[in-house]
Amino acid sequence: ARSTHAPYLDQLNPAQREAVEHLDGPVLMLAGAGTGKTKALTARVVHLLNTGRARPNEILSVTFTNKAAKEMKFRVGNMLGQVVEGMPWMGTFHSICVKLLRRHAELVGLKSNFTILDTDDQLRLLKQLIQAHGIDDKRWPARMLANIIDDWKNRALTPDKVPSGDADAYNHMGPRLYAEYQARLKELNACDFGDLLLHVVTIFQQHGDVLEQYQRWFRYILVDEYQDTNVAQYLWLRLLASAHKNICCVGDDDQSIYGWRGAEVGNILRFEKDFPGAHVVRLEQNYRSTPHILAAASGVIRGNSNRLGKELWTDAQEGERVRLIGHWDGEEEARWVGEEIESMQNGTRGMRAFSLDDMAILVRASHQMRAFEDRFLTIGLPYRVIGGPRFYERMEIRDAMAYFRVVVSPADDLAFERIVNTPKRGLGDKAQQTIQRIARENGVALVDGAALAIEQGAIKGKGAKALGQLVTDLARWGRMTRATVTVESDDDVLEDMAQPMPSTPEVSHVELAQIILDESGYTEMWQNDKTPEAPGRLENLKELVKALENFENLQGFLEHVSLVMDNETDDGGAKVSIMTLHGAKGLEFPAVFLPGWEDGLFPSQRSMDESGVKGLEEERRLAYVGITRAEEVCTISFAGNRRVFGQWQSQMPSRFVDELPEEHVEVLTPPGLYGGGGGFGSASAGYGNSGLETAAAEANVYNSPGWRRLQSRANDRPLSQPRESKSQVIDMTAVSAFSIGERVFHQKFGYGTVAGIEGDKLEITFEKAGTKKVVARFLVAADD
Ligand code: ATP
Ligand code: MG
Repeated sequence: ARSTHAPYLDQLNPAQREAVEHLDGPVLMLAGAGTGKTKALTARVVHLLNTGRARPNEILSVTFTNKAAKEMKFRVGNMLGQVVEGMPWMGTFHSICVKLLRRHAELVGLKSNFTILDTDDQLRLLKQLIQAHGIDDKRWPARMLANIIDDWKNRALTPDKVPSGDADAYNHMGPRLYAEYQARLKELNACDFGDLLLHVVTIFQQHGDVLEQYQRWFRYILVDEYQDTNVAQYLWLRLLASAHKNICCVGDDDQSIYGWRGAEVGNILRFEKDFPGAHVVRLEQNYRSTPHILAAASGVIRGNSNRLGKELWTDAQEGERVRLIGHWDGEEEARWVGEEIESMQNGTRGMRAFSLDDMAILVRASHQMRAFEDRFLTIGLPYRVIGGPRFYERMEIRDAMAYFRVVVSPADDLAFERIVNTPKRGLGDKAQQTIQRIARENGVALVDGAALAIEQGAIKGKGAKALGQLVTDLARWGRMTRATVTVESDDDVLEDMAQPMPSTPEVSHVELAQIILDESGYTEMWQNDKTPEAPGRLENLKELVKALENFENLQGFLEHVSLVMDNETDDGGAKVSIMTLHGAKGLEFPAVFLPGWEDGLFPSQRSMDESGVKGLEEERRLAYVGITRAEEVCTISFAGNRRVFGQWQSQMPSRFVDELPEEHVEVLTPPGLYGGGGGFGSASAGYGNSGLETAAAEANVYNSPGWRRLQSRANDRPLSQPRESKSQVIDMTAVSAFSIGERVFHQKFGYGTVAGIEGDKLEITFEKAGTKKVVARFLVAADD
């Protein structure tokens, strides 16, 4: 390699370096997990700065999460060897668009202090519109309409652009309700998540001068996780890059996991068409994972047919095989993971010791988290939940934020509705309807409608007094907030648009938040509450106020929350991370746990029910993302029974378990549960027998008669105390698998005879119900 005085270049391999040094014109870096795409992208930012090609505020750099943006800023500083002052345009599509939209809100009929609705508000608003049309929202749920609208927005379709092919959406009312919804949002001075991008695209399309200004401003554009951009995001990028074409996108088609949100892998292929002569760089060396982990991941992803296809190699030490373990149920799985994590802190099974920070649990569905959280709380294992909206979804937090929202934007009717009678102010449905009517008649926000209602005597007595107090308080807090509002510090970049400096605040926004919660009676409401949850809720409120310290003002904080950031408050100690597979994209951990590999959970039931392989292939990519997060140890687990939304279900191991190449897998035995009995399925099956960590063992995990019997038992028995059914679990050596001609019993269809076998699905000729295909786990042998 050429010697250089820039150490950040020396850390790169030749292919990465090529991507970094090729500064002008379009560059596409297409490569598998852990090959150093993000690292190269970061080095590119450093190179742009170091060579003086761009100032920090002239680089537009899109990351997938805000956490990733923070990380990148930090790394840029490290590589450069000096602190970078402000990288204002490094962030997610959404966070960048919020900034742009605040500057130009009036061009789409909003004011610059617009609020961003969360899903809850969005649904409430849609429901109102639906009901106003007399549509039965049981049959046509608001959520369905929300999804349709989101989908249009992801495709950059404003109401006037909805194609005729979509006219029948939502019982033919979709396009019309979409238009009404957009109009209503404008009245509320609000927008939803999808609007952030859509509005900016609209502005760019309709106001050439504004677009040109930013085209000139953003001299270099960089995009990470490019495979997950949707059409609107793609258009946005193309508009901004079309003049200078200095755009560098990096991605991996095998990690495209947001198709359900409108992402299009096709954007990768389109890139070369839209930017002819694009310099394409491929990376093949993986620096993250051991050969076993890499081989397991490659083995799984090979099951997908729609791939660009690429091979990865690594020169890392061989290390541990991917570990596979089955459990009785989800609680047992959580218990085992907790114990294993504790042992791994001290070094176990011949492995080195891992810090809690080194370990992560990646789940397919967020409801899986609860079992782990509960377990870890019980044993006092520190953990953090990353990337989820969980904390901010809690009731008291949402209430408190509704207060903040009305204070910041008095026109936020949805927030006002939420708090007007919380705590109880003697304002029942009738009083609230009166407020709404008066607001509507006068064309004003609810808070002003409330003031009018009192003035006109439309609301009387105790309620009127309390309401009057609330209205006065809101106005007062509003004045106090405006005194605390400060201009975003890194926005001095576009001086012509700079806003005047604010006056000195009298109280900080943190103090103000506390004042609002106390004086509104909200804190007191929980202090007087005798339910066991109340103390926890007060704790959460304290956390909330504490969280505000990291922001410059209430509005900035509310924005942060709507963009769903990390929610952990960190005491600095080491913690296990818990997050969804989707949230783990781009991250890496020395040891990763992947629980819940069961059909119906992972892959999801929906993807399995779908015709075609599209959904299933996306799930498989998710499995690939999961495995490739691991550097040294990857542990996959599944449970035979799981309680999903209050219902016990018996589970079959995921088909992806089947796809793990056996020579890279080690099957572990859960201690206690099967151990004493010589292992699940015993000698005949070999499950859990360390001498048989190969084909037989693996296949037997789910093909073994024992597993089937476990499934059958699960259907028969109450499962609240799995440990008591231990003997039944172990003693299954004598059971045979279902075979053709065997008499079976099905809970719904009754008795029948096995006519055909196809994997875990059996064709049964039922005595009463005729011939049907059913899943093996719903059958019991009818040997009596
Ligand atoms: P993903 O597809 O999962 O986002 P990625 O391609 O972005 O992965 P990075 O996260 O950039 O990969 O890099 C993976 C790991 O490899 C990181 O720990 C990074 O520091 C390291 N790495 C990247 N390039 C090199 C290199 N040339 N030499 C040594 N280590 C490297
Ligand atoms: Mg990356």
